Amino acid sequence: MAQTPVSTCTCPQALPAWDGRDIDLGGHAVHRIAMPTPFSMPMAFDLYRQRQQQELERLELHESSPGLVLMRTGLWRGEVMRLLTTDTHSLSRHVQRLPSPYWVRAVLHHGGIGTLRRTITAMQSALFDSGKTPKALFLAYLTCPVCAEARGGEQILALRHWVPNQKLTAKLQKRAS
Ligand SMILES: [Zn+2]
Repeated sequence: MAQTPVSTCTCPQALPAWDGRDIDLGGHAVHRIAMPTPFSMPMAFDLYRQRQQQELERLELHESSPGLVLMRTGLWRGEVMRLLTTDTHSLSRHVQRLPSPYWVRAVLHHGGIGTLRRTITAMQSALFDSGKTPKALFLAYLTCPVCAEARGGEQILALRHWVPNQKLTAKLQKRAS
């Protein structure tokens, strides 16, 4: 299968209709590699995205959402993660299965990384308001630099892992009654 050269378009091919929804990715096979993120800056993102692409091709692994690269940043270390098809069997240490359940809230952000904070803050409040504790945040660029303008501006998909918070839920129910 011919692969798109990395110097051209790197937009995800097709997008899952996840905006505003809670998705359970529990048990999903993923390919994840650690990436240095000094001061939470994913400086080497493009390099690691390409490195991951090459490894997927070498291992003949297939993505369930081709080109959707989920990036997580920490203070020093983050990762790039891709979702793989359900028939994935691999001994690579980079291939894992997400714990079950693994709920994520998906929100589509219209704009670049510079205006993302407001979207993330709003999503976080919405999660707390429904008795959920937000955990790891994953971001995926849906528009590559080549296409962003032609496609009406940058778009970023934010996926926030969450876990149910029983204490918080009880408190919210008390307040509502
Ligand atoms: Zn593109």
